[in-house]
Amino acid sequence: MDRSLSEKIFLLFFFPIVIAFYLIYKYPLWFTAEELVVPTFYWLGKSTSFWYSSLYTLVVCSIALKTFTSGKTPYGKNKKKGISNYQKWKFISIFASQLFFFYLIPYILPYLLKGGEFFNDQYAPVNKNAYVYFYNGFTSLGGAIYIFVVVPLSVWFFGKRYCSWFCACGNLAETIGVTKWGNRWVTGRTPRGTGPQKLEIIQYIFLLFATIFGVILLLDLWQIISAPSLIVGTRAIQDLVVDLIFGALIGVGAYPLLGTRIWCRYGCPLAAGMRLFGKLTKGHFKVVANDKCKGLNLCTAQCPMGIDVASFAHKDKKPIMGSFSLENSPCIGCGGCIDICPVQGISFQKILKGDPANK
Ligand code: SF4
Ligand code: SF4
Repeated sequence: MDRSLSEKIFLLFFFPIVIAFYLIYKYPLWFTAEELVVPTFYWLGKSTSFWYSSLYTLVVCSIALKTFTSGKTPYGKNKKKGISNYQKWKFISIFASQLFFFYLIPYILPYLLKGGEFFNDQYAPVNKNAYVYFYNGFTSLGGAIYIFVVVPLSVWFFGKRYCSWFCACGNLAETIGVTKWGNRWVTGRTPRGTGPQKLEIIQYIFLLFATIFGVILLLDLWQIISAPSLIVGTRAIQDLVVDLIFGALIGVGAYPLLGTRIWCRYGCPLAAGMRLFGKLTKGHFKVVANDKCKGLNLCTAQCPMGIDVASFAHKDKKPIMGSFSLENSPCIGCGGCIDICPVQGISFQKILKGDPANK
């Protein structure tokens, strides 16, 4: 994949900027000798997490808004093709979830309820624990309901569509993935083939670690055992290995090198839990190929999860009308493969009345 000069210049700064932003956001104490009352930095009276989330939300929402109002498909070279209902609703969902659930509710609503000066909330609590961390299911009732009830129910009906319609991490991957450069990173850089597929097992190791960490936190919560060094030790692994190295450095910083879904494919413990649940329960979600396939392989190239979609659709350009689900793939239901196909050779199995699948 050839890169333009402007893309090369962008890449020179992209990785260091992502890392710098993330480190300041997540580990502000590394950058100051001062004893901070609340362990985070403030700039113009707001925490670094507020500014980080503001920028993040601006990027996600502006791309999502542009995409669903453009009326054009965000996938493929045929710029005259209209946007499908599925993609329109997906980007509306991304826009709304990012704006309301990941920005207005955590950052603006508390201020509205509490009152006071908006740009002087030095002591407002700062939550830096992303909900994709499976261990949160062990530390609070809300976390448990979310991880063990809400997410599995959504997997039962919609597969891992959660990852392409709602999740904050997925929102960035999905929106950057339809920009000019981002789509080139997805199609040209996503690891594909059997080797990278076998490596997806790494994600279950993260899930195992997250579960062990969760149980340790749960036991501490109940005061059954008291082992601060164990908690500090496992939290350090969580923060440094899972969160910093895998989540930020590889997960976002490496978009231009490995596509937009490296974290989602190899790191995210919640995704491993969803995939496991999908495998065990054989839910409603399925991608099905029909007899219109012409063997163009555009679907495989578009898949951000490295799935060889075309291998289910044709053999030597002859349609085989295969299908896949979470039993045999990490599909996130983004619909890119379906939208890019010029002959409508694949579709989602329609699940509920009014479901925009297939439209
Ligand atoms: S794989 Fe994890 S981080 Fe990625 S979109 Fe799904 S839940 Fe979010
Ligand atoms: S198989 Fe299709 S719907 Fe599933 S993740 Fe890949 S491109 Fe998206």
